[in-house]
Amino acid sequence: MANFYDDNADLRWYVERGIDWEPIVRLTEYDYQAEDGFKNVPEALEFYTDILNLVGEYSAEAIAPRWKELDEAHPHLVDGEVIEADVTKEIFEGLKEMELHGLCLPRELGGMNAPLLLLQFNNEMVARADVSTCTHVGFHGGMALAALMYSVLEGTTTFTKNPPAIAETRFRQCIEEIISGETWGSMDITEPGAGSDMAALTTRGTQDADGNWTVTGQKIFITSGHGKWHFVIAKTEPDTDDAFAGLKTLSMFLVPAYEIVDGEKKWLATLDGTEVKLGHNASATVSISFEDTPAELIGNRGEGFKYMLLLMNNARVGVGFESLGSMEASYRAAVAYAAERPSMGKTIDKHEMIADLLEEMATDIQATRAMSVRAAWCEELASKARIALDHLEMTDEARAEMERTKKRCERESRHLTPLLKWFGGEKAVEVARRSIQIHGGSGYIKEYQVEKLLRDAMVFPIYEGTSQIQALMAMKDNLLGAVKNPKRFVRTTAQARWKSMSAKDPVERRVAGLRLLSQQTMQFLLTRLTATKVKELRHHSPGEWGTVMQDWDPKRDFALAMLHAERLITILTAAAVAELLWDQQEIDPARREILLNWLERQEPLCRYHHDSITTTGLRLLEKLAGDEQAKAPAQAAK
Ligand SMILES: Cc1cc2nc3c(=O)[nH]c(=O)nc-3n(C[C@H](O)[C@H](O)[C@H](O)COP(=O)(O)OP(=O)(O)OC[C@H]3O[C@@H](n4cnc5c(N)ncnc54)[C@H](O)[C@@H]3O)c2cc1C
Repeated sequence: MANFYDDNADLRWYVERGIDWEPIVRLTEYDYQAEDGFKNVPEALEFYTDILNLVGEYSAEAIAPRWKELDEAHPHLVDGEVIEADVTKEIFEGLKEMELHGLCLPRELGGMNAPLLLLQFNNEMVARADVSTCTHVGFHGGMALAALMYSVLEGTTTFTKNPPAIAETRFRQCIEEIISGETWGSMDITEPGAGSDMAALTTRGTQDADGNWTVTGQKIFITSGHGKWHFVIAKTEPDTDDAFAGLKTLSMFLVPAYEIVDGEKKWLATLDGTEVKLGHNASATVSISFEDTPAELIGNRGEGFKYMLLLMNNARVGVGFESLGSMEASYRAAVAYAAERPSMGKTIDKHEMIADLLEEMATDIQATRAMSVRAAWCEELASKARIALDHLEMTDEARAEMERTKKRCERESRHLTPLLKWFGGEKAVEVARRSIQIHGGSGYIKEYQVEKLLRDAMVFPIYEGTSQIQALMAMKDNLLGAVKNPKRFVRTTAQARWKSMSAKDPVERRVAGLRLLSQQTMQFLLTRLTATKVKELRHHSPGEWGTVMQDWDPKRDFALAMLHAERLITILTAAAVAELLWDQQEIDPARREILLNWLERQEPLCRYHHDSITTTGLRLLEKLAGDEQAKAPAQAAK
C-alpha cells in the first residue's frame, strides 16, 4: 500500500530523531497527570506514529489518485447553498469516520489529545495528495482548537486540578459540532476594499443597549466560508487615519452563519457567491454578507488584531506544511519523470543542469521542513507553556523554568514564522514550475498532474499574508529588535564574527558567516535610516531634536528597508536554516550533507542580495519621493 508517511525519510527523521518530544508530550498530557493520558514519550509516540501511518495511507490511497476529480470539483452556489462535489464529500466522510477532526482537542472535549505538530504533519501529507483538500481539513480541527484557545486566553475556560482537565469552556457547542464533523469554521478577514491593509476594514460590530453584539458587512475570498462558525474581524471603535492605531479599532467575533430551528437550517448571513479560481479547486472560496447578524465578542473590544495574530501565526506555520506537501508532489513527479525520460544517450536526470535543478529542489524541501518543524514546535510549546503557567500547579523553580521556555519559544517562533511562510510559499511555486520544465512539453499538458500542482501552489505566496507582507514583518521585527535591544544586536554580531573566524569546524565558520552577513546587512540599513533621520534635524530647532528622534514613522523613515525587505528576508532565512541544520548534524552526522548543500547554494545568493541592498535603491526612492511631492500640491488644490 502506498503511504506518504512511510515513503518520506526526511519526515520520518523528524518524528523518530529530530524532535524533542518530551516537553511537548509532557505539557499535552498535563505533566503526565491526565487521567487516561500517556505516561511517557514512547507510549505517546507509538500512538502518533499509528496516526501518521493512517493518514499517510489515506492520503496516498484515497485522496491522491482522485486529483483529477478534485481539480474539476468547483463548489458552486445553488439557492444560497454551496454544493460540493461527491469526491469531496466522500473524502471528508472518510476523515470523519477516522475521527480526525478532533485529533488535537483534549480528551475531555471528545478529542484525541494529540499535539498540534501531528496535525501539521497530517496537513503536509494531505496537501501532497491535494492542496485544496488540505485547506478544507484545516478549517475543521484547526478552528475548533482556535475556539478553545480563544476561550482559554480570554479566561472563560475553567480547569479541574486533580486530575488536571478542562471543566468548562465557552465555545463548547462550536467545538463539539466541529469535532463531530457536522460543520466547520472559517476565518473572515478580507473585504473587497481591504486585504493586507487591515486598518481599512469596514465591517462593523455594534452593541445594543442590552449588551448584545451584531456584525454587518461583507467578507470575500473566505476559505470554507460555507460552514457554520465564522471568526469575523470587525471594527468596533471610531475610525482613525493612523494605520497602526487603526488596528486597535478591531475586535474579534464568533458568528454562527446559520442555526437549526425545528430541524430546518435558518441562515443568519447570506452566501453571495463562490469564486472560480486558477487552482485550489475543491476548496470553496466564498463571499458572505452579514447584516445585523448576532455575534459573540471574543476577549475585549479592540483586541481583535491580537486574537487574529494567534490564529494567523498557526495558520502561517500551517501554510509552511501545506507548501511542503505541494513541493513533495512536484519534486517526486520530476524525479520519476527524469529517471525515465531518455535524451541524447542518457536519462535526463543525468544531464548536469537537470541534476542541479533536482538537487536544489530537494535542498529547498529539506530547508522548508527544518523551519516548519522548528516553528511549529516553538509555537506549540509557547502556547502550552502559557496555559500551564496559568492553570497547572508547579514549584517556583519549575515555574521560572517554564517562564523562560515560553519566552524563548515565543521569540523563536515569531522570528521563524514569517521566514517560513515567505520561503515555503515562494519555493512551492518555484519547485512546481521547475517540475513542469523537467517534464518538457508533457509538463504543459493537463494529462500530467504537474500543471495542476503549479496552479495550486500559486496561492501560497498570497493567502495568510502575502510574501511582501511577510518580508515587511521580518524586516520591521528584526530592525526594531536591534533598535530596542542594541546590546543583544552587538553581542550577536560579535559572536558571529568571532565564530566565523575562529570556530574549529570550517562548516561552523560558514554557518556563522551567514549570520554575520545578516547582521551586517541590518547594520547597514539601520545606519542609513538613522543618517536620514539625523539629516532631518537640520530642518528643526535643537529644542525639537528629541521629539524628531523619538518620532519614527515606518512609512517615511523605513523606505530603504521596505524597498529591500524581500532581499533581507532571503539572507535572514539562509542564516536561520543554516543554524537549524547545524544543530541537526550535531545529533546525526548524516544530516551534514544537507547543510553543505544549503551553504553552497545560499552563500553566493546572500552575497548578491547584500550587494544589491548596499548599492541600489536610492534612484527609485528619489523617484517615488518626487511623485509624492508632485501629488501634494494637486491634492492641496482639490
Ligand atoms: C484561494 C484564496 C483563499 C483565501 N482564503 C481567505 C480566508 O479564508 N480568509 C480571509 O480573510 N482571506 C482569505 N483570502 C484572502 C487573502 O488573504 C488576501 O487575498 C491576501 O491577504 C492579499 O490581500 P488582497 O487580495 O487584498 O491584496 P492586496 O492587499 O491588495 O495586495 C496586492 C499586492 O500588493 C502587495 N502589497 C500590499 N500592501 C503592500 C505593502 N505595504 N508593501 C508592499 N507590498 C504590498 C501585496 O503583497 C500584493 O502583492 C484568500 C485568498 C485566496 C486567493
